Amino acid sequence: MTDSYDVVVVGCGGAGAATTWWLARSGFRVLAIDRFEAHHVRGSSHGRERIVRLAYGDPVYVALAQESLRMWHELDAAIDAPLVRTVGGVDTGFADELEQVARGCESAGVPYDWLNPDEARRTFPGLRFEGRALLQRDAGCVDAHAALDTFERSAVANGAVIHRSETVTRIEEQAAGVDVTTDRATYRGDAVVVTTGAWAASTLAGLAPLPPISVTREQVAFFRPKRDATFPTFIDRRETSYYGLPTPTGLLKVGEHYTGPVVDADTYSADLEPRTWQRLLAWVRDNVPGVEPNPVDHNTCLYASGPDEDFVVDRRGRVTVGVGLGGHGFKFLPLLGRRLAEIATGTPWADNPFRFARGPRLAGRSLHK
Ligand SMILES: Cc1cc2nc3c(=O)[nH]c(=O)nc-3n(C[C@H](O)[C@H](O)[C@H](O)COP(=O)(O)OP(=O)(O)OC[C@H]3O[C@@H](n4cnc5c(N)ncnc54)[C@H](O)[C@@H]3O)c2cc1C
Repeated sequence: MTDSYDVVVVGCGGAGAATTWWLARSGFRVLAIDRFEAHHVRGSSHGRERIVRLAYGDPVYVALAQESLRMWHELDAAIDAPLVRTVGGVDTGFADELEQVARGCESAGVPYDWLNPDEARRTFPGLRFEGRALLQRDAGCVDAHAALDTFERSAVANGAVIHRSETVTRIEEQAAGVDVTTDRATYRGDAVVVTTGAWAASTLAGLAPLPPISVTREQVAFFRPKRDATFPTFIDRRETSYYGLPTPTGLLKVGEHYTGPVVDADTYSADLEPRTWQRLLAWVRDNVPGVEPNPVDHNTCLYASGPDEDFVVDRRGRVTVGVGLGGHGFKFLPLLGRRLAEIATGTPWADNPFRFARGPRLAGRSLHK
């Protein structure tokens, strides 16, 4: 046995880094362990760009997004280079989903505007609009890479220990603590937080009543804007849904939402899948006149999703679980990190909507991004 800690965090991607940050700043002795190096590209948190937005169809997510955005802005106020850029967000596509998003905004007093196609084109000439668009002006982009660095730097400054390129092979509850065994050593924690994303099912086998987590491989493309074109974040809600956002390096990232194949996180290939790739390029040609049509870059990333795109945040014994963040979890990281830290150290989340056993939150489809 080597060192002991108040909390051992297993998996230090987005959720693990945010949890480690909150634990350390709250004065707990914390060790975070990740099997890969910082900013590795095998999971779900790499790259520089993620949408932050308040406009969800589900009032629960609207309220959580509001609290999360406040926390991002507080974090920004404490550092030199802001993580969040506010550019506005537009939703287009299925009328019933747009109505649902409007109702979600109204539930929490989030302001929004309806733009008819002419108004939308005048406001965002880089995009093509057929029907009306819902504009929510607080939406923006968070620099994901810088956010992870910020969580980790702050955690380490507050005494956290972070081990990388070390794989957790067993988590065992004992009467007086939890033993976390890796390919290097065994550590003891009073509690453990498991934030292993696409590896949740294997790391939590036998430890928690996890709902099914599906792992899909999604691919995104980056385009160079034509001169003077600026973009909001956008989501086009259709049979095949698309989203996009401006990146910190001046490009436009565009992806399809949930069209990638189910994969095994240990063995999947990062090669482009030609059919969906060509469809994505065709959609951009038809709908985004403000960019040069040939992509300048691409990458792949894993969605690790619980049922109905809802997160899984709960505790069994000494094991707290924060997984299933899917394709929309990044914007909530400061808040989820805080809640996971609190649950692990004895403060339950009142009205937690993401328990192991829960039903679907909304009837019908409501795309979360
Ligand atoms: C293409 C794409 C676009 C997205 N866009 C948005 C967006 O615009 N807005 C938004 O809010 N969200 C977005 N998301 C979602 C968001 O990025 C993810 O929900 C979030 O990053 C998930 O973080 P995580 O910590 O759960 O997973 P990860 O970051 O993958 O972390 C899990 C970590 O666990 C580690 N691990 C696993 N097993 C072990 C083990 N045995 N021992 C040690 N370590 C282990 C892994 O190495 C990994 O680092 C997007 C996701 C993708 C893929």
